[in-house]
Amino acid sequence: MDRYDEIYRQSVEDPETFWRSEAAGIEWQQPFTLVLDDRRAPHLRWFVDGTTNICHNAIDRHLATRAEQTALIYVSTETGTEKTFSYRDLFEEVNRVAAMLVAQGVTHGDRVLLYMPMVPEALFAMLACTRIGAIHSVVFGGFASSSLASRIDDARPKVVLSADAGSRAGKVIPYKPLLDAAINLAKHKPDRVLLLDRGLAAPAMVEGRDLDWASLRRQHFDARVPCTWLESNEPCYILYTSGTTGTPKGVQRDTGGHAVALVASIKYIFDPAAASGEVDAVSGRRTFFAASDIGWVVGHCYIVYAPLLCGMASVMYEGLPTRGLDGEPDAGIWWSLVAKHRVNAMFTAPTAIRVLKKQDPSHLTRHDLASLDALFLAGEPLDEPTARWISEGIGKPILDNYWQTETGWPMLSTQRGIDPTMQPRFGSPGKPVVGFKLRLLDEATNAELAANEKGVLVIAGPLPPGCMSTVWGDDQRFVDTYWSLLDDRSVYSTFDWGIRDDDGYYFILGRTDDVINVAGHRLGTREIEESISGHPDIAETAVVGVADALKGQVAIAFAIVRNAASIGTPQDRLRLEGEVMATVDRSLGALARPARVHFVNALPKTRSGKMLRRALQAVTEGRDPGDLTTIEDPTALEQIRDLLKPPSSTPH
Ligand code: ATP
Ligand code: MG
Repeated sequence: MDRYDEIYRQSVEDPETFWRSEAAGIEWQQPFTLVLDDRRAPHLRWFVDGTTNICHNAIDRHLATRAEQTALIYVSTETGTEKTFSYRDLFEEVNRVAAMLVAQGVTHGDRVLLYMPMVPEALFAMLACTRIGAIHSVVFGGFASSSLASRIDDARPKVVLSADAGSRAGKVIPYKPLLDAAINLAKHKPDRVLLLDRGLAAPAMVEGRDLDWASLRRQHFDARVPCTWLESNEPCYILYTSGTTGTPKGVQRDTGGHAVALVASIKYIFDPAAASGEVDAVSGRRTFFAASDIGWVVGHCYIVYAPLLCGMASVMYEGLPTRGLDGEPDAGIWWSLVAKHRVNAMFTAPTAIRVLKKQDPSHLTRHDLASLDALFLAGEPLDEPTARWISEGIGKPILDNYWQTETGWPMLSTQRGIDPTMQPRFGSPGKPVVGFKLRLLDEATNAELAANEKGVLVIAGPLPPGCMSTVWGDDQRFVDTYWSLLDDRSVYSTFDWGIRDDDGYYFILGRTDDVINVAGHRLGTREIEESISGHPDIAETAVVGVADALKGQVAIAFAIVRNAASIGTPQDRLRLEGEVMATVDRSLGALARPARVHFVNALPKTRSGKMLRRALQAVTEGRDPGDLTTIEDPTALEQIRDLLKPPSSTPH
């Protein structure tokens, strides 16, 4: 048996022993008396009676050994800012914000909502909340007022932390008017708003409710606020899912299990060298760069908590992947940061790589990437052409990993921390991560499937530490939503399709609601997309199933071309459409061939870069796309609506 099989088997056959040992990765104030209490399964309690504090583990405990080491490298290509903070600086800043919160009456168990851009203060504030046992709920900055209002009503925060504005591609997005409108809409009214003025858009302050961040910081400049010790199962934060398929759910994360799982994820997946105490020969530390946003789970875990829990430096980046610090176009900006700050592990989403793929590829080779061990990608399917392109371009392992806001850390991944020779396989996020008992179930019979059979991917309980403990404020919704596939509630459904090959590598085939039925045959839109992306002229594509009188449903493809000149004339479009159809015919058969391939400039995505297929499908079928509060660019749908108008009104 190889080493991976061995360790993985131990982790799922005897989770108590496995996680007892992993729990030593953090400091406990009081030791736990029981590793796992599953009497109320699927509601679990990990490390029962153990008390700890995540801020203590992320900052205070490093002061003895690495107070002067860099902890945070902040780069904004929106404002042209570059700043570093040592662990000591971080300690002081977090204490200031903690004192600011305590002065507003925030205490243990209170919620604090953050509606903030990517600024260091947002990271200080998250850690300040965990320091005093307050529960943070970070809402992606720039979300519309209605999305924000529904999260305010669900989380009922005592205090909201916000800023005057965010910025995107150099365009200032004032946050304060959005926040004021949201608070007006919400039934719950926070007592206080602490507002950081970045000098981007002079905010209107509400007398008696709004306070200026900078003056509070001055008042509490020398403050020291002790860590509040929490029982391991007390909540650390609430984070809403992306809303790709429906109404976002408030994922509640605990304290001890969360910290233990994140440290384990660095050790087994993201940076085994950091976990074993090695440092970069040039920088004298390990450095992690997660190009994500604190509003998403990747940002929570891999910009804020995991790197700091492991004593690494974390790079926090505000801006596009294609602009330099001087505001000029620079598709190599991320690679220049890797070179300059000796980044050892980098993490982003496939969508960002697809953006880079549309740029001149010379940016990939202009910088010295010697420090970088691997590039991690997650959040959506990584199509093989994109994976190959970036892998050849930077010459580093590209490690796809699959997880959800709910699971809190990867459930499928290459685990070089167990076996450094473990190799990724194109198209697969890898093998089950330690602690996750993954199964594939037949959709109709719920029977467990063997290799090479497609089914619904589920996790057999107990979920490992770090996964959601419940839906905030609604234990029953947690059970009903995720655990209702089998009557005995023994499996958690991911709502994703998967398949496993003979060697145990899993492949994600899309979401269970992204399946189409063509003349009685079930096809995953994701497979058709993968096939279309194989055409060299196609940069990105989305496929939806559309009602058809004859076949039940047909596939309709929307595609962005790599080079606009390739579809300069109507004849070019027809030719490329035919070629794309032929590509699908060859790889999946004529049944999967899209009935139409429409060429577009943009595809509708969520703010986290995921394809909004439900909205695309609705528009294609001439229906109302429904809730669009999480959409990035509404004009993408408008363009498609125009394109689909009958030919008499549009000269295509
Ligand atoms: P909602 O649950 O509100 O509809 P969401 O599912 O998009 O939103 P997230 O938790 O951010 O919210 O995303 C998790 C989902 O993203 C997974 O269930 C899966 O569909 C997809 N995903 C994540 N990583 C990968 C990956 N590496 N490969 C394929 N799909 C992935
Ligand atoms: Mg989901």
